[in-house]
Amino acid sequence: MKLARVTKKGNRTFYIEFMLMTLAPLIVCGIVMIIVCSRSMSKAMKDEVSDNLKNVALSVRSSYNMRYPGEWEVKTEGEDAADVTLYKGGVLVSDNYDFLDGISEESQLEISIFYMDTRLLTTLRGTDNERLEMTVASGKIVDDVYRGKSCVFYDNVTIASSDYYAYYEPILSEGTGECIGMIGVAKTSDSVKKIINGFINRNILVMILGILITSFFIIRFANALVTIIKHMLDFMKALAANRLDVKLDATVAQREDELGEMGRNLNNLQISLRRLIERDVLTGLYNRRSAEKRIDDIEGSGVKYCVAIGDIDHFKNFNDTFGHECGDVVLREVALLLNEGMNGREGFVARWGGEEFLLVFSNCGIDEAYDALMLIRQALHDKDVEYDGQIHKVTMTFGAAEKTEGIPINHLIRNADDKLYEGKQGGRDRVII
Ligand code: GH3
Ligand code: MG
Ligand code: MG
Repeated sequence: MKLARVTKKGNRTFYIEFMLMTLAPLIVCGIVMIIVCSRSMSKAMKDEVSDNLKNVALSVRSSYNMRYPGEWEVKTEGEDAADVTLYKGGVLVSDNYDFLDGISEESQLEISIFYMDTRLLTTLRGTDNERLEMTVASGKIVDDVYRGKSCVFYDNVTIASSDYYAYYEPILSEGTGECIGMIGVAKTSDSVKKIINGFINRNILVMILGILITSFFIIRFANALVTIIKHMLDFMKALAANRLDVKLDATVAQREDELGEMGRNLNNLQISLRRLIERDVLTGLYNRRSAEKRIDDIEGSGVKYCVAIGDIDHFKNFNDTFGHECGDVVLREVALLLNEGMNGREGFVARWGGEEFLLVFSNCGIDEAYDALMLIRQALHDKDVEYDGQIHKVTMTFGAAEKTEGIPINHLIRNADDKLYEGKQGGRDRVII
């Protein structure tokens, strides 16, 4: 996607600023959300593991109580630590692995039964696949469980070089109420982390996807916005450079939002500017400057054409006798009539100066121009111009010339002017070609 850049401010563009205002907060927000969600998800997962371990520990205790009702006891038959055996309700349980393995398999957790700090019965195995019996729990765990006589959860316990999430449930003597051992339930940290990471990765993926989709729409929107602004900027630059015939891209004014309104106002501004620059204020006809430009355009197009200069006869009398305002009214009425006379014809009328008008007949020979001028002259001759309740008669004299190969425009106009002079000399109210 090609990015348009407008409105430079230093080295920054409107586009970059817009991106900074929208994409940057979105990305920061996304990153914060990913971190917060990952943390809370990780905590929730740990809580769930803790609950799971606790439930299994309770289930181990109640299963033993149901199967072997009575106290836990330890008997030592020799000096060696390995000679220590565990009894429950008077039944030897330290060599009954099936019962503990059954619960372990069902729950997919490692289970150990401690007497004081020593594992007497366990499903945990070392690297040599031997059960980790007669190994001891760390001093901190023993301290926490024995002193507090309460269950404890740890999210990082190292047993035989492997990391575990572990839960310890105290075994209390029925007689003394003293803590004599613990039931430990453990799950490898790797398996928990795998689940947590799976959750977090999925979560990050969804968030990144969300950010990408949102960014895509923001970029598209920004691009459309910048393109519209660029159209308007180019248009204004052209107006400022006096290129008044420039066209604002149609899509801008078609919009129904504020940008569309700006576009429509720019178009109106252009019309007003053109009017101010190209038109004569009194009559609304093209002024001399734009008339010259228009003749240049016709000349450039290579078509044949004729020019005529019309001058109001004895115009000074209107000013002198009835006032300047009356003269203005006559000028406006004449302009209106000349414009009507050009209706349906190719070409234009302009106020050439004072009470002189320029008529240009494009795609037209001198005979056709003559006929048209005669009709206009007659129409003016027949017209009643009213000012201050009085009717005034106005006539005009025209001189016309046809464009011929090699003759410059100013010569052509001078020729028409000469013919006009002839007409004045000849008695006025006539057309001379
Ligand atoms: P001719 O038949 O020989 O053309 O005589 P004329 O009186 O029409 O010509 P002249 O050049 O003597 O007078 C033109 C007058 O037009 C002089 C000037 O004050 C007046 N005039 C020029 N511009 C305006 C205008 O905008 N308004 C008014 N009211 N008068 C204007
Ligand atoms: Mg004159
Ligand atoms: Mg005159």
